[in-house]
Amino acid sequence: MHKIIVVGCGLFGSAATRHLAEQTDGVACIGPKEPENRRGHNGVFGSHYDEGRMTRIVDPITEWAVSAKNSIERYSDIENRSGIKFFSPSGYLGIGEPSSDYNARCAATGATIGVKTSKLTATDIHSRFPFLSVSDNADGLLETKTAGHISPRAMVKAQSKLAEKAGAELISDEVAKINKGGSSIEIELVSGESLKGEKVLVTTGGFTSACGLSPVNLNLRVFGRTVVLAKIEGSLTKELSEMPTIIHAISGAYILPPIEYPDGNKYLKIGIGTDADATFEKLEDLKAWFKGKGSTENRLEFTEFIKQLIPSLNHCNDWHSDTCIVTQTQSGLPIIEYVDEEKIAVAVGGNGKGAKGADEWGKIAANLINP
Ligand SMILES: Cc1cc2nc3c(=O)[nH]c(=O)nc-3n(C[C@H](O)[C@H](O)[C@H](O)COP(=O)(O)OP(=O)(O)OC[C@H]3O[C@@H](n4cnc5c(N)ncnc54)[C@H](O)[C@@H]3O)c2cc1C
Repeated sequence: MHKIIVVGCGLFGSAATRHLAEQTDGVACIGPKEPENRRGHNGVFGSHYDEGRMTRIVDPITEWAVSAKNSIERYSDIENRSGIKFFSPSGYLGIGEPSSDYNARCAATGATIGVKTSKLTATDIHSRFPFLSVSDNADGLLETKTAGHISPRAMVKAQSKLAEKAGAELISDEVAKINKGGSSIEIELVSGESLKGEKVLVTTGGFTSACGLSPVNLNLRVFGRTVVLAKIEGSLTKELSEMPTIIHAISGAYILPPIEYPDGNKYLKIGIGTDADATFEKLEDLKAWFKGKGSTENRLEFTEFIKQLIPSLNHCNDWHSDTCIVTQTQSGLPIIEYVDEEKIAVAVGGNGKGAKGADEWGKIAANLINP
């Protein structure tokens, strides 16, 4: 029997498993690997199947800023010990306007936890990032060194490698059912096998409710998100080589600089998530969303928007879209709590920004279940 079984080996689950394995024996983590062929895959999916997630400390909400800061401070240790690099410190630029207080709120929160940021005028933005076309009344908030992007795929690999090195058993399977009762908890796997654990931590993101893995209703809203990727080549590669990650406060757009993907090409990515996006409850609908190309309307809207912000992208003629899901909680923060006495806990609800601070959310979950 295992002491603690973590269900789900994504960003939260792999982090929690590492922290647990470095604290105690008897830890297992069950979760499938990323499918090689998405369209032909019949199992669950994860929100970490990508090469780029924005990371930065500044955020209008203190909990997000603190979780990011604590995690970012540990990135180099995780990279060095695992030998897997996942952080690129390209910096972060928030683009605001007088009608938005987003940058001011981010700067204020950052100041309370000692993060260095710089305020930029529209002229500063133009001279520092000449490829950006912003209005004359735009303002900017810059975070360097601690901000940039991480590869969520590589981060999961790094965490999993360290977890395994510390003694965790990693099981590549899906959990079909969690059965309570008696002194232990039984985990039924899709492969037909079963495992027993004293305690279970569920970290299955947007699939938690659809897979029936929480004994209580967590009131999660799972949104389908579409992202658009532009292939960057030729002169654009040099022009955008100093590009930071960007949040455009008025539109809510988040933009990642050109990042190399497994096909060897570099892609710049944009997404804008809104409450008008489709929501999903059923397992089959979630799976279908991951196999599709997302919203055509979003694809056209995002392409138009990014071409206005970075006019040289009008020369780019290779665009495609991808899909992902965001798990939103009622509080806007991850839910990390017991859902069944002191035996089953959950760590879910990345709210579209859980990657950067995943190591800290995983640590909080580990400390909850193994006090
Ligand atoms: C388009 C998009 C862009 C984003 N951009 C950013 C960003 O720039 N910065 C940022 O910080 N965050 C970003 N996020 C959010 C971030 O990716 C998520 O918050 C993060 O992935 C949440 O981690 P998680 O571990 O909760 O879920 P996941 O990473 O989805 O991991 C859940 C894991 O559970 C597994 N699983 C599911 N069901 C089962 C089952 N039945 N049995 C076993 N395993 C199961 C899955 O396979 C998966 O590996 C973005 C999300 C999306 C969709």
